Amino acid sequence: MYRAGLNPEQAEAVVYLGGHLLVLAGAGSGKTRVLTCRIAHLLAERIVEPRRILAVTFTNKAAGEMKERVGRLSPADAERVRMGTFHSICAWILRREASSGGWPENFSIYDADDQKSLLRSLLRNTPIETKVTPGAAQTWISRWKNSMVDPGKAEDSAESDQEREIARLYAAYQSALRRNGAFDFDDLLTVVHGYIRQETDAGSRYSRMFGHILVDEYQDTNLVQRGILKSLGGPGSSVCAVGDDDQSIYGWRGARVSNILDFPEDFPGTRIIRLERNYRSTPAILAAASSLVSFNRGRHGKALWTERPAGEPVRARSLANPEDEAAWILKEVSDLSSRGVSPGRVAVLYRTNAQSRVFESAALLEGIPCQVIGSLRFYEREEIKDIVAWLRVLANPGDRISLARVLNKPPRGIGDKSKALFLAGLDASGADPSEFMKRAGRIPGLSRGSISSLEALGSFLAGASALAAGGAPAAEVVDAVLAGSGMLDALDPSTVEGSSRLENIDEFRRSANEYDSLHPGSGLAGFLTTISLMTTSDAYDSGADRLSLMTLHCAKGLEFDTVFIAGVEEGLIPFIRAGRFGPDDLEEERRLLYVGMTRAKDRLYLTWAERRARPGVTAGGVSRFVSEVSLDSGSTVPAPAAAVPDPVIGVPDTRFSRGNVIHHPRYGMGTVLKAVRRGGEWQLTIDFGMDEPKTLLTGYVPITIVREKGGFPVDAV
Ligand code: ATP
Ligand code: MG
Repeated sequence: MYRAGLNPEQAEAVVYLGGHLLVLAGAGSGKTRVLTCRIAHLLAERIVEPRRILAVTFTNKAAGEMKERVGRLSPADAERVRMGTFHSICAWILRREASSGGWPENFSIYDADDQKSLLRSLLRNTPIETKVTPGAAQTWISRWKNSMVDPGKAEDSAESDQEREIARLYAAYQSALRRNGAFDFDDLLTVVHGYIRQETDAGSRYSRMFGHILVDEYQDTNLVQRGILKSLGGPGSSVCAVGDDDQSIYGWRGARVSNILDFPEDFPGTRIIRLERNYRSTPAILAAASSLVSFNRGRHGKALWTERPAGEPVRARSLANPEDEAAWILKEVSDLSSRGVSPGRVAVLYRTNAQSRVFESAALLEGIPCQVIGSLRFYEREEIKDIVAWLRVLANPGDRISLARVLNKPPRGIGDKSKALFLAGLDASGADPSEFMKRAGRIPGLSRGSISSLEALGSFLAGASALAAGGAPAAEVVDAVLAGSGMLDALDPSTVEGSSRLENIDEFRRSANEYDSLHPGSGLAGFLTTISLMTTSDAYDSGADRLSLMTLHCAKGLEFDTVFIAGVEEGLIPFIRAGRFGPDDLEEERRLLYVGMTRAKDRLYLTWAERRARPGVTAGGVSRFVSEVSLDSGSTVPAPAAAVPDPVIGVPDTRFSRGNVIHHPRYGMGTVLKAVRRGGEWQLTIDFGMDEPKTLLTGYVPITIVREKGGFPVDAV
C-alpha cells in the first residue's frame, strides 16, 4: 500500500536498504512523500522496531502531519516512531539526560523575549551598555553558537574591543542561563551536540539508538544539526536525507546548503537518488519557476518535468500601491471563489510580516475569511506570557527571569526596590522561592505590604508546585495558577480589554486540556516544552476554509491550488537591507521566490506595487526577478499600472525535432535525440556529450535551436 502510485525512482528510495541515502530533487517531486512511505515500509516489513526510527522535519506541524499519514498507512506502530524537529528531539534528549548531564529535568526554554530581558540586565554597567542593544547582542551570540564557537573562542578571535566585550557578555549570558536552569533555542542543539559526541556510555547510547533516521528539508540544516545527525547516525544506522539545494532559504540563520552537497562525505557509501518528475505544478508554473532559479550559479542543475496539462499561464501584474495590490488580489480571490475555488486552497505570500495588514483589511472588505500565519501573536500576548511564566516557575524554581516577570503581576504592592531586594536575597540564600517568600519578614528593607504579599505568594506557590510535581494534568495546574495568582480576579470582563484577555486565557486552558488528552501522563513539563517549541509555521491550519496569508519563508513545504506572490519589488524581493547585501544574498532571495512559486499547483500570480513607502528604504517598482521569470525576454513586459493587459509568461512557440542542434544555458550545445510534445511543451532527450543523454522539458530555461538539421518527423503524443 505504501508503494501504490510511486514512480520507479520514488519506489527505489522507499525500499532501498543498502545504507545511507540522499534524495536530491526539485520542488514537488515527492521528497516528503517518499519519507512518509519509507517509514511505512520500515514498519510494514518489520525491518526495524518502531521506536528505533527517527524522523526529523522542519516544523512541528510537518511532524504532526507525517505522523498522521504514517498512521494511515501503518496504524499500529506510527505512534511509537519518534518524529519532530531538531529542536524538539533535542529537548527530548535533554530531558532524558538531565541527571547525567547535570541540568534540571524541567529546564526552561527561553524565547527571544526572555533572552533579551536577560541580556538587558547583563548589559547594565558594561562598557557597551549604550552601544549594543540586547537584540544585537542576541544576534551575535546566536551566530557564535551556530558556528560552534564558545565564549572563550569568541573572545580570543574578537577583532575589536567592542566584539571582545560582546564575547564577554556571551560568557556572562551562558552562566546566567545555567543559573536560571534555562536553555535558549540554540542551546538545545549545541548542548545536545556536545553531549552525544562524547565518547562515553551516554554518547554511544545515542549513536546506537536509531536504526533508521530520516530527515526532510536537509538543505536548511546548520552546522550543529549536521553534527548531531552525524553522531546519531553512528554505525548500524542508516540515514536518509531529502532536500533541494534550490530551496535553501535559511542561510541568514546559519543554514548551510553545503551540508546537503557534502552529505555523501559525512555518510560514506551514500546512494544518491534523483527525482525528476514534478507532481504538483502545471508546466507553465514549473517553467516560470525553473527559469527564475536557472539564473543562480553554484547550483546542481535539475531537470523537472510534469505530465500535467499546460494549465493557465503565470500572470504578472503591476499595481499603483500596496492598497491597490491587496484590493486587486482579494477581488481575484473572490472571483475564483465564485468559480468554485475555495479560499482555503489559496494563499497570498509576501516577503515581510508587515505586509499582512493590508491583505487582512482587504479580505474583510471582500468578506473573505482569512488566516494570518507567521506571527505567534497568541503566545506573545502579555496575559499568556504571564501564565507561562508562572508555570515555568512551578516547573523550574531556578528560573529567575520568569519569577521576576510575575512577582508583581497582577500588581500586589511589590515595588521595583522590594523586588530587587527579594531576588538578591533569594539568590544569596539558595533557598526555594516559595520557602523564601514565606520568610520574607526576615529580609531587611522590605515594606510591610511587600512582606505580606510575598508570604501569600509563598503559600500559593508551594501548593501549586506540589500539584505540578505530583504529576497533575497540565490543565489542572493552569487552573491553580489562574486562581491562586490573582490573575483572573484582576481582569474586568466588562471592559473590552479585560474580556479579550479572558478569552485568550480560556483559549490557553483549552490548549492545555487538549494537550492532556493527547498526552496522558505528560503533565506540566511536557506541555511547557511543547508550547515553548511552537514556531510561526505551526499555526497553519490546512483544513480551514480560509485564505492563507503568510511569508514566503513560512510557506516552505506547503502547497496550494492558487498562489499569489505579492510585493515582487526591487528592495522587497530581493529584500535589500542597508549595508549588507552580496551576491549570496541575492541568490538566496531568488531561491526564496522560487520556493514561493513552486507552492502553486494550478494558478500563480506575481504582483508588485509601483510605489511602496517603507521606513528608511526606497522600495517599489518591479523586481529584477520578474524579468528572469520570462521564458523569452519578449513575453513579459513589466507594465505600468493598468495601462497594458497583464503580461503573460508563456512557452516559446518553437517546434523541436530530432536532429536539431540546440543550446541550453547550463549544459551548452547538444543534439536532440527525441522530441515529444507534452501539452504546450516539449520533452526533449538531448545528447550533450555527457555519459548519458538528458531528458528535459522545454520552458524551464530558454533552449534555442542553433541549427535545424531537419530530417526526422516529430514523435507525436
Ligand atoms: P517540496 O520540495 O516543495 O517540499 P516535495 O518534493 O516534498 O516538495 P511532496 O510534497 O512530497 O514533494 O509532493 C508534492 C505533491 O505531489 C504532493 O501533493 C504529493 O501528494 C504529490 N505526489 C508525490 N508523488 C506522487 C506520485 N507518485 N503520484 C501522485 N502524486 C504524487
Ligand atoms: Mg517536501
